[in-house]
Amino acid sequence: MELAGVGIDLGGTSVKMGVVTPEGEVLARKEVATPKGPARPAVAELSRVVLQLIQASGLRPERIGSVGVGTPGILDPKKGLVRTASNLEGWVDVPLGDWLANDLGRPVRVINDAHAAALGEIRFGTAKGIEDLVLLTLGTGVGGAVVVGGRVVGGSRGLAGELGHMRIEMSQPRPCGCGLFGCLEAYAGAKNILKRMHEALADDIQEISLLKEKSKVGPLTVEDLFWAAAEGDGIMLRLVDETALALAAGIANLLHALNPKAVVLAGGLSRSALLVEKVQEYLPDLVLNPAYLDDFCVTISSLGSDAGLLGAAAAAMPFPS
Ligand SMILES: [Zn+2]
Repeated sequence: MELAGVGIDLGGTSVKMGVVTPEGEVLARKEVATPKGPARPAVAELSRVVLQLIQASGLRPERIGSVGVGTPGILDPKKGLVRTASNLEGWVDVPLGDWLANDLGRPVRVINDAHAAALGEIRFGTAKGIEDLVLLTLGTGVGGAVVVGGRVVGGSRGLAGELGHMRIEMSQPRPCGCGLFGCLEAYAGAKNILKRMHEALADDIQEISLLKEKSKVGPLTVEDLFWAAAEGDGIMLRLVDETALALAAGIANLLHALNPKAVVLAGGLSRSALLVEKVQEYLPDLVLNPAYLDDFCVTISSLGSDAGLLGAAAAAMPFPS
């Protein structure tokens, strides 16, 4: 019988942990705020929670095999090392894999968080059975993972899949949070969309927008933007259009490079039906040949915020043959 695994989805604000069966059932789970301060005590705190979960799962400890952890930042997956992570303050060259293995007495695999989400989708989610696909996570920033022949592509140093930093604009490139210019994330990451929204509201003094009054009451969110666009707000519709065109341009580049069967959109922005519809409208004009779109689909993650947790657990399990 196949062993269950432990999945850890380490984020900048919270950490999701769970004991996961080979079928993707979460037997015990807990979400905690990401521990602040020095890395070693923070990791020890997470280990304590994992040990509690193993007990709460009702499985005998020997029925639980490896531990998988999905983490942001620049990693050395072979060594289980987090080199740097902008949203894990003070984490530099952290031997996350070794520390967890030491605390938990189990083998540990450390992978990029977007790679984990892709693994979750291909093993348990919307991409089950699809061998060639691209995952784009549309959150505060834009992350990604490339799956070829059923395997997540790591590249020579495990750094493949930074799809949010493909350059899509050359002439008047906007700055990206990464320090580069013209990246997909500068147009399709929620943080930058909000920035563009505020610029547009300040620029179009004459034009009426549903959000001008709302902005005086409290801070606006990306949800407000998509709501206003769906209500027919001209400024917001233009912004959604620009965002969709940027995403479609990025997807077209990926279609030409990889010819995937699907692009899976995950993260908060993927819940906007209007955005996804517009991306699909733009695609035919951006591809070299309609054949790239034969049998191709843009689909939405079915695991939602559990994709990272399930995928991290899957990363540490043998793939069913
Ligand atoms: Zn960038």
